[in-house]
Amino acid sequence: MARLAAYRAKRDFTKTSEPSGRTARRGGSSYVVQKHDASHLHYDFRLELDGVLKSWAVTKGPSLVTGEKRLAVHTEDHPLDYGDFEGTIPEGQYGAGTVMIWDRGIWEPEGDPEDGYAKGRLNFTLKGKKLRGAWHLIRIAPRPHRHQESWLLIKGDDAYARSEDEPDILEEAPDSAKTGRSLQEIAEETGS
Ligand code: MN
Repeated sequence: MARLAAYRAKRDFTKTSEPSGRTARRGGSSYVVQKHDASHLHYDFRLELDGVLKSWAVTKGPSLVTGEKRLAVHTEDHPLDYGDFEGTIPEGQYGAGTVMIWDRGIWEPEGDPEDGYAKGRLNFTLKGKKLRGAWHLIRIAPRPHRHQESWLLIKGDDAYARSEDEPDILEEAPDSAKTGRSLQEIAEETGS
């Protein structure tokens, strides 16, 4: 399907175990954050919308501190079954490195999500294992020489928010929400 053309063009499925992907018609609402130990560690934040996983790379990862803005660079749509992928992308392939399912669950948009996505403002509730409550994704003005859209991921103010003095969720809960493994255990294919 054309919507996954960018995803497929970057990958050689004879060499990587990532899914070649399919889209679906079902109106699901899955949500996943994949911790990706590539050339730079980052967190891939993905929301199911319109049969694919809309995707943003969050360099610093999500913060539970209300109002703390985390840059989320929009990346190519991923297939729905990518949300179940945990493993290692081989050296020399696009995104080479270890991928962990750091969090997953469902998301509930406030209002029409396709409209919000098009307008660059998504307000939603997350029901994951680690991230819960109100969140915002807001598109910001294009930055020079960047062709990818920049968005900000921000925690809403509610009972799930934390102050700056409280533990950082990234350090408090670093391991896989799917298998409990660490990045190293996934890289070595042990611990599950
Ligand atoms: Mn990534």
